[in-house]
Amino acid sequence: MPIYEYHCPRCRDEFEVLVMNSRDKITCPKCDCKKVERLLSGFAHKSAGGKMVSSGGGCASCKSSSCASCH
Ligand SMILES: [Zn+2]
Repeated sequence: MPIYEYHCPRCRDEFEVLVMNSRDKITCPKCDCKKVERLLSGFAHKSAGGKMVSSGGGCASCKSSSCASCH
């Protein structure tokens, strides 16, 4: 089940909600505001900053930067 981050414009709090049903009305746990905004998840930050694919290089047996030549 997806966890979404929300931002409350009234009390400026950010909180995470486990969304069971996407039709559920999300309200702020502090002030019960119903106009909370859904934030983009951390995925965007991680995929933009990290180089998960290229940092490790190739497999154990090949010393080049990629496995394109050994497989
Ligand atoms: Zn609030």
